[in-house]
Amino acid sequence: MTPAASIYLDHAATTPLDPEVARAIAAAERAAFANPSSQHAAGRAARRLLEDARERILALLGGRAAGGRGDRLVFTSGATEANHLAVLGMAAATTPGTLLFSRRDHSSVVAAAAAAGRLGWAVGEIGLDVAGRLDAAAVADRLAAAGTAPRIVALTLVCGQSGSVESAGGLAAARAAAAVHVDATQAAGLVPVDFATLGAATLALAPHKFGGPRGIGGLVVGAGVAIAARVAGTQEHGLRPGTEAVPLAAGFARALELAVARRDADAARIATLRDRFEAAILRAAIGAGVPATVIAAAAHRAPHVSTVAFPGVDRQALALAADLAGVCVATGTACASGSSEPAPALVAMGLAPEVVRGAVRFSFGRGTTGADVDEAVARIAPLLARRTAG
Ligand code: PLP
Repeated sequence: MTPAASIYLDHAATTPLDPEVARAIAAAERAAFANPSSQHAAGRAARRLLEDARERILALLGGRAAGGRGDRLVFTSGATEANHLAVLGMAAATTPGTLLFSRRDHSSVVAAAAAAGRLGWAVGEIGLDVAGRLDAAAVADRLAAAGTAPRIVALTLVCGQSGSVESAGGLAAARAAAAVHVDATQAAGLVPVDFATLGAATLALAPHKFGGPRGIGGLVVGAGVAIAARVAGTQEHGLRPGTEAVPLAAGFARALELAVARRDADAARIATLRDRFEAAILRAAIGAGVPATVIAAAAHRAPHVSTVAFPGVDRQALALAADLAGVCVATGTACASGSSEPAPALVAMGLAPEVVRGAVRFSFGRGTTGADVDEAVARIAPLLARRTAG
């Protein structure tokens, strides 16, 4: 890193492509450019690569393929589509019942829940505790009150806004009485993700969050789980149309292999960097007279997200000033960062409005160094002083 270089602290939005993954994508492009649905030898070679990638990903996620009659992996465009296909696809495949979600969930889940409501589902929002996790008792109560009608709960393993990991209690309450969709997008590669252990019906993820390519995601669909396709087409078990992106699937599989192999070491190193960053930014804030706090610090957190609130500071103005100073940070989830709406999870946690208004998300990755975090704080500290001086 040179002093003038841009420092990327937005790994929760997306991560740089790992060079080894780039090589796997290029090799697959050379070996299997053909359409995997073609009957000829070139098509069959592409199909073999696609199915090999699918099997490797499913196995790494703890899915049980059981000779084609077990769990399945459907390739999608990303986690947004995977969430939508899971939540609305499950809802559309059965008679309406009760569907629960929370503001920990990505906007794609919230939108799918709203669409299920238009199909006649009773859609309920579950509140969050101060640590940003599901109110497990409310989940149990709502499901008990739902009677015998179908029940679906959407649950996010690691919240992209606060970084908090969902509690075992929230998961247990949900899966005891409902089909559970787990969004593991911020979790994969940093905390263990095992489909069988989670007991989920469906699980979404996207490799661009852990050194893999953008433009592809995955949905694990449990054995026997009914999903109604959202768009007509014959590919991907009839659930996702369009000629499959074989090279991206190969990159997805390689990225997940690397992420799983490096997970414990990466998580420990990134957590150390995060703690170093938080200690330094809180010191800088005190120096600037800003009473900063780390959101969800007391919760069980994934290592890569640090959401810091600077009450009295406008988060959008601070993020813009940080960008001009060469530090890339976020003020919410990337898809919503053009908006001035506060992060929904932080609001649902019951945080004071000035805390939510001043909350900036810093997120770290495999390529982040100690020098990066020190330099980022050095660049942001004077911005805090200027912002409070008004
Ligand atoms: N789910 C979570 C928890 C996320 O953080 C994100 C992206 O920020 C998504 C889903 C959407 O992922 P994608 O960009 O692959 O559609």
